[in-house]
Amino acid sequence: MSSESVRVVVRSRPLNDREKAVSSGVVLSMDLQHCQCFIWKPGAEDEPPKQFTFDGTYSGEHATEQLYNEAVCPLVEGVTEGYNGTIFAYGQTGSGKSFTMQGVSEPEAQRGVIPRAFEHIFESIQCAENTKFLVRACYLEIYNEDVRDLLGNDVKQRLELKEHPERGVHVRDLSMHSVHSVGECERIMERGCRNRAVGSTLMNKDSSRSHSIFTLHLEICRTDSSGRDHLRAGKLNLVDLAGSERQSKTGATGERLREATKINLSLSALGNVISALVDGRSKFIPYRDSKLTRLLQDSLGGNTRTLMIACLSPAGSNYEESLSTLRYANRAKSIQNRPRINEDPKEALIRGYQEEIRKLRALLQLDTGDPSSLLAAESPAFPSRPPSTSEAAKEEKIKEEFQRKIAKLQAEFSAEQESKAKLQEDLASLRLSYESELWSLKAQARRGSSTSSKLDAEKVTKATAASDQVKEQKVWKTDLTSKVSTVAPLDQKNALLRLQQLEQEVVGGEQARNQELQQKRRQRKKLADQRKVQLIHALSEDSEDSNSVMLKVYDSIQEELYAKSQLLIKVQGKLKMAKLEIRDLQVEFEEERNDLLATIRKLEREAQLTKGLLERMAPLVRRDCNYSNLDRLKKEAIWDEESAAWRLPEVVVQKTELPSVNASAQRGSAAEAADAPPQVEEEDRFKEMLDRSESETLAWNYFKPRRASLLLGGDAAKGHAPLSVTPPVSSDPALPRPFRLEALTTAASTSKGKRKKGKPHIHVEGN
Ligand code: ADP
Ligand code: MG
Repeated sequence: MSSESVRVVVRSRPLNDREKAVSSGVVLSMDLQHCQCFIWKPGAEDEPPKQFTFDGTYSGEHATEQLYNEAVCPLVEGVTEGYNGTIFAYGQTGSGKSFTMQGVSEPEAQRGVIPRAFEHIFESIQCAENTKFLVRACYLEIYNEDVRDLLGNDVKQRLELKEHPERGVHVRDLSMHSVHSVGECERIMERGCRNRAVGSTLMNKDSSRSHSIFTLHLEICRTDSSGRDHLRAGKLNLVDLAGSERQSKTGATGERLREATKINLSLSALGNVISALVDGRSKFIPYRDSKLTRLLQDSLGGNTRTLMIACLSPAGSNYEESLSTLRYANRAKSIQNRPRINEDPKEALIRGYQEEIRKLRALLQLDTGDPSSLLAAESPAFPSRPPSTSEAAKEEKIKEEFQRKIAKLQAEFSAEQESKAKLQEDLASLRLSYESELWSLKAQARRGSSTSSKLDAEKVTKATAASDQVKEQKVWKTDLTSKVSTVAPLDQKNALLRLQQLEQEVVGGEQARNQELQQKRRQRKKLADQRKVQLIHALSEDSEDSNSVMLKVYDSIQEELYAKSQLLIKVQGKLKMAKLEIRDLQVEFEEERNDLLATIRKLEREAQLTKGLLERMAPLVRRDCNYSNLDRLKKEAIWDEESAAWRLPEVVVQKTELPSVNASAQRGSAAEAADAPPQVEEEDRFKEMLDRSESETLAWNYFKPRRASLLLGGDAAKGHAPLSVTPPVSSDPALPRPFRLEALTTAASTSKGKRKKGKPHIHVEGN
């Protein structure tokens, strides 16, 4: 299987007003001819600029139209042939990602990549011959590492990622929407944009806090000359990434910090995946580290043609960010993908659709063309022999009449479909009135009216029903040609309707005869091919330079010396640049490390706060609830790799059923025992009372050791009682515990009766 690298183009925007106001110098320059990009370090004018080569370099004066025609067009064309394609815009906030992807309607040349891709795809579809397409769209957002369906019923719902041996990584329950035109694609995209987590439009600065992926799925069915179908499937992912700037620098805290770390997590995971792919030595590619990398898995090192558009600000104040974007992009271009045409997709819906269309056509005995018009065209009312003029006029009249009836019938079909429920209702009420009339007739008959009148009435009703039926059949027979009259009328109606629905669902070939459009397509292809040749030429020039010096045969030693010393100067320059690059990389690495450490420290502080709060709160949770034991909960919690979330145990409250010890029941009357509340309730009540005040807690502490000492027996225990909880009263046996218990019970203001029951219980135990 052949491999091809990820295509990377860079685009810098013009300086904006703010940058002009602070007279921020321009540090970027582009050489479109040689696909090179240069960046100068502000304040280090003596240093040579850093130089990068890409598949395309566009500056402020180049419009999106040019970028599309040269770089994007071949990829989108491939999608209509059955390849997968991904286009993603990368860069810091405000660098022009949305401007490039979404664009503006005025001037026309600056319309974005996305609307152009829609137009391109539908243009290809409409020009295709003997080929039908089923196009479906989906739109998702990754916000705070949650995947959300921007076109779903519940936008807030978190969706799960699933891995399928054939479909690869996909989002479970993501809604798919059939689209039949550019307009429909645009409307769906707008709807999704309105549902994004932050900001109502893509132009909003805040929208750069989430990643979004709009995907068009194409199923392609080409019928060859022998009538055999060949199925293919391609998809186009249009990705708008969140801003790549270091978010922790902005001093974000709380929710914003969490967002920032999640954005960084996804983007650094993307960076790590790119590094691992390019490294060549690493066998493990960390796709699973973020939702973004999992979803783009096939676009990075898989079965997809990928284009990265790295967006840059030309201002000196953004030097660091621009350089980091350039490095990122430079690494990405070494990723090798293995795109292939997706033949015979297993789960293609279009297969079923085409088969059903064929069956319905056979049922209705139609060959080609629109079902309704065909009915008219193939009617036996229009004989195939060449008609005379008067005959032609008559025929025209009949034809018109026929078409009018067909149109009426179609309107009736849809009306019927819409008001099916109403029709059923009407039918039910009709039946009811019929039956009531019948009943009244019978009643009349019973009341002594003549039998003949009853029979007459029944006859009338039957006759009406029969004539209705005949009328209906007549309508059908006149309206539908004898070609289709072999099928029952209702079946025909449904079959025709279904056929129309199915044929509307699939698109393709509508403009196959449009020469102008075909010419436009050819021109587009030619431009892309020219650019490809130019690119190959530019890229090979550089490597040829150094080789030719070494291989060339020189006329004199001086000439050779000159050529080789020139080469030496060039190589020395490169060496100097490489050394500077190493120095810069070390500095940048250090900065990035500090940045990460700062983020870790911030997160640690947040984690500490949460931990502290939890520790304080855990004792307040009732003991019989499993959430009172944090350590056990931690052990029971399971990390779910699939959904990247913790699965926590359910909240369970375990009521301990203590044996029902009821002293009064043992000693006292049976009636009292029946009245006594259960032990647990009793215990709760005491706990409640003891929690009320400090003094009451002291009372509890006081009685605990005393009871123990009593159990141990007499004076020996008395001496061991802790001083702090042994008030003077305790040494006096004349002041028995009931006194303290009474004090205790009076503290509680409620349920006096119950307290009385509690007293002897403890008293008995104490003695
Ligand atoms: P991002 O999506 O990367 O955060 P935007 O696309 O919203 O950035 O661009 C920020 C601003 O710069 C917008 O006002 C946009 O109109 C302007 N801009 C970006 N690229 C260009 C360009 N190539 N030409 C003119 N204006 C541009
Ligand atoms: Mg944006």
